[in-house]
Amino acid sequence: MYKSFRVLGGVLLAAALLASCAGAAGGPGPALDADVIVVGSGLAGHGAVYGALEKGARVLLIEKNDKLGGTSLTSTGTFSAAGTRMQKEKGIVDSVQLHIDDINRIGHGKADQALLRKFAEEAPGVWEWFVDNGLAPNPAGPVIDPVHSPYSVPRTMTPLKNSANEYVRVMAEKAKEKYGERLSALVNTKVVGLLVEKGRVVGVRATSPEGERLYRAKAVILATGGYGSNRDMIKKYSPRYAEYRTVTPPWATGEGIEMAAAAGAALVNMDYLVGYFGGMPKAADHYAIGFGDLTSGFADRWKGEIWVDVNGKRFVNEDDGDEDPRETAIDKIRDGKILIVFDQGILEANGGKTPLRDFDARLAQGYAVKKADTPEALAAAFGINPQGLRETIDAVSAASAQGQADAFGKTSGMAFTKGPYYGVLCYGTIFMTQGGIKVDTQLRALGKDGKPVLGLYAAGESMGTTQWGGHGYAGGTGVAPAIVFGLDAGREAAQFAKTGR
Ligand SMILES: Cc1cc2nc3c(=O)[nH]c(=O)nc-3n(C[C@H](O)[C@H](O)[C@H](O)COP(=O)(O)OP(=O)(O)OC[C@H]3O[C@@H](n4cnc5c(N)ncnc54)[C@H](O)[C@@H]3O)c2cc1C
Repeated sequence: MYKSFRVLGGVLLAAALLASCAGAAGGPGPALDADVIVVGSGLAGHGAVYGALEKGARVLLIEKNDKLGGTSLTSTGTFSAAGTRMQKEKGIVDSVQLHIDDINRIGHGKADQALLRKFAEEAPGVWEWFVDNGLAPNPAGPVIDPVHSPYSVPRTMTPLKNSANEYVRVMAEKAKEKYGERLSALVNTKVVGLLVEKGRVVGVRATSPEGERLYRAKAVILATGGYGSNRDMIKKYSPRYAEYRTVTPPWATGEGIEMAAAAGAALVNMDYLVGYFGGMPKAADHYAIGFGDLTSGFADRWKGEIWVDVNGKRFVNEDDGDEDPRETAIDKIRDGKILIVFDQGILEANGGKTPLRDFDARLAQGYAVKKADTPEALAAAFGINPQGLRETIDAVSAASAQGQADAFGKTSGMAFTKGPYYGVLCYGTIFMTQGGIKVDTQLRALGKDGKPVLGLYAAGESMGTTQWGGHGYAGGTGVAPAIVFGLDAGREAAQFAKTGR
């Protein structure tokens, strides 16, 4: 699929571009390498490329990895939109306003309302465009996404092949078919700075195995993704999440966000992260984790286990069908550090198996999973408050024996009846990052004075999910906004390149 673009490494393509562009410029002054440079080739980058091509721009896509696709290469493909044909065919009544209301409920009203509305209004048309242009949808959709705080109606779709790269495939194929001659792409080329002249962003500085060089354009779009894999950035901007774990890919290092800030752009919501429950490290310094390290299956498939903080105290109804109260509660716990606790009786009541992959191996390893003969000994093994844990277990057992709802309204609690006692250590886990480059509805990066940084645009996770989603995470709102805002940024940047406005 990537052969759809002229994807070459480093200098070879650069030379080709310079030759053609210098000829086109036909006069003194630095040659333009493109009208629009798009940095980053994930969903937002591909959207930006397509949007800019549609509007007639010559586009240069720059990607630091050796292949295109960004996080779409590792991400599933849920996409939420209201009022789609698929909903109508299944008699699901939905509206843009209901989508906005749901996101505001889940995101606690903290989204930028103009950006949220723009996303919700444009998402259905973008989804239909994919279906009309070669994306095979899973006919089971739309659904209420079971792994995130539920919408009020089913509005989440996935491609039949549940990979976010399906959207990249379609955009890349269409870009080649319709506009291929105006698009070039560099891989193995890392943008390390923005060129700023007279207050305008006019290009980028990039390094490749062949060395460093400048690329000039009339507009630059930062579609560089988030910073979930850059622990130093998390410590710098939001130290209370320093021990969070991450399932983001290693290239999610956020330098686009830092570059934008250095060029005068304002950053928003950098102090906030959603800690999806939960990640189980193999060792204290085991930061990047895989899906096999997630403990979230407990929430969906188990009964009776309790979650406690370092004081041995519970903090939420573990069996709540809604993710948001759990994520909100975890946000109040430093680093989202949690111990999942159950005993032999609860284990047996759940069929003798936990949802954790490699439970026995992890128990034998003795880092994140441990067992002990008493609650006090278990607490001591994990360095949490022994008396607090004992009191919590006694209270849960008493409420269960009396058939009462416990202090968190949970009616499905189970008594602890026999040892040994098991503990599973986990931390809040990052899927996407919530802070990023502040933009307006034209996807222009905004300075601290609220005015656009001329020539600079951002889209996707580089703008931080909070701008469209608020404080929380509604299902299918990573992929869809990245594409929607990528397309918009491409169109806006092309317009700016053409008219200066
Ligand atoms: C495991 C996982 C599953 C997910 N599942 C879903 C889901 O089902 N539904 C959903 O809605 N969301 C999901 N998400 C979130 C969603 O996939 C991402 O938010 C989205 O793909 C981000 O797209 P993006 O284009 O903004 O950034 P990315 O895809 O991260 O792209 C950024 C690109 O920029 C490149 N880059 C960065 N810096 C530079 C530089 N200096 N120079 C050159 N290139 C650079 C990177 O290499 C990368 O290719 C998931 C995320 C993960 C990690």
